[in-house]
Amino acid sequence: MPLRVILSNPRGFCAGVRMAIDVVDQALEVLEGQPIYVYHEIVHNKHVVGRFRDRGVTFVESIDDVPEGSIVVFSAHGVSPQVRQEADQRRLTWIDATCPLVTKVHAEAIRYARQGYQILLVGHRNHQEIIGTAGEAPDATQVVESPDDIPNLHIVDPDRLVYLTQTTLSTDDAQVIIDALRAAFPNIKAPPGEDICYATTNRQAAVRQIAPECDLVLVVGSGNSSNSVRLTEIAATAGTPAYLIDDASGLRDEWIVPKRAVAPTRGMAVARHGHADQPQAPESPITLLLTAGASAPEDLVAGVCRELLARFGGTIETRDIVEEDVEFGIPATLKRLMRDRGIDPADRRIRVAPPDVTRETYGAVPLTISAGDGRH
Ligand code: SF4
Repeated sequence: MPLRVILSNPRGFCAGVRMAIDVVDQALEVLEGQPIYVYHEIVHNKHVVGRFRDRGVTFVESIDDVPEGSIVVFSAHGVSPQVRQEADQRRLTWIDATCPLVTKVHAEAIRYARQGYQILLVGHRNHQEIIGTAGEAPDATQVVESPDDIPNLHIVDPDRLVYLTQTTLSTDDAQVIIDALRAAFPNIKAPPGEDICYATTNRQAAVRQIAPECDLVLVVGSGNSSNSVRLTEIAATAGTPAYLIDDASGLRDEWIVPKRAVAPTRGMAVARHGHADQPQAPESPITLLLTAGASAPEDLVAGVCRELLARFGGTIETRDIVEEDVEFGIPATLKRLMRDRGIDPADRRIRVAPPDVTRETYGAVPLTISAGDGRH
């Protein structure tokens, strides 16, 4: 049965990931010959990390593993002040590739803690971003992973509470937790702006809108990428089976079946409600939504697409739901290192491009472009 592949737009790299990858890329070029260390995976994608390893970058999980006086890059997820202090103690030159939208949440944590608020930080306790944000105000912060955590919180004054969130949560799941917090603490304060970032929101909105018309959803991304995993969950909630794959080698032929024929299998994000039992004309092509988490390179998406069309044949189209034009600048330390070497940072804009359907090769079939209905 042929495929109808719908490429979700937006998908893949966000502005923060493009900036972080570009920082390491430019550091390798500008600091030619000097060892580059990166604290934690620069972004949560095994291919991105592997490609930098192949170019000589060393990834560490402890600042103690960076030789004194070396150069270290902090990953897009951000670090706690304690990590920055440890880096200073080892006389490291650190380049902070933290996404500015994560830095914004750090600033909120610092400000509210100074004002005497207790902070309820909604997110995944062991995620690097939550560790970094909580580290800004450790005595004032408690992490909330689910409504089940609420009875165990230690609240001093229910009128002096604020919640903040991880940037890459499912907007649906976060709302459930926030509603539960509001029910428990009616005077809890909300952050001044949305903490879940534009890229997370847009990628989820696209899946939420397109997945119901599809037989399955494939998300390109790594298992430790929070926003990638959330995309599979959003698809499942929309009633469509979804699978997370690192690259084309993860494809399984048995997944490519009409939605009504799917029986839940181990490892599959299972539909919780929705349209899984709707009848489908037997001769219909199988409709597959292909998207990617914010840390997944577009060449991997194109590789999945080529493999699908080579195995099954069919058509491919892009579906434009939201256009994004967010761009972040190069961190100040990298600019200084450039100037020290006679390089004008103004000539070095972020070079990692957003997905470009004219640049990648998706398969030997014409690609059509259509707009979504604007509901998201
Ligand atoms: S997913 Fe959002 S917060 Fe994370 S790096 Fe991308 S833009 Fe920044």
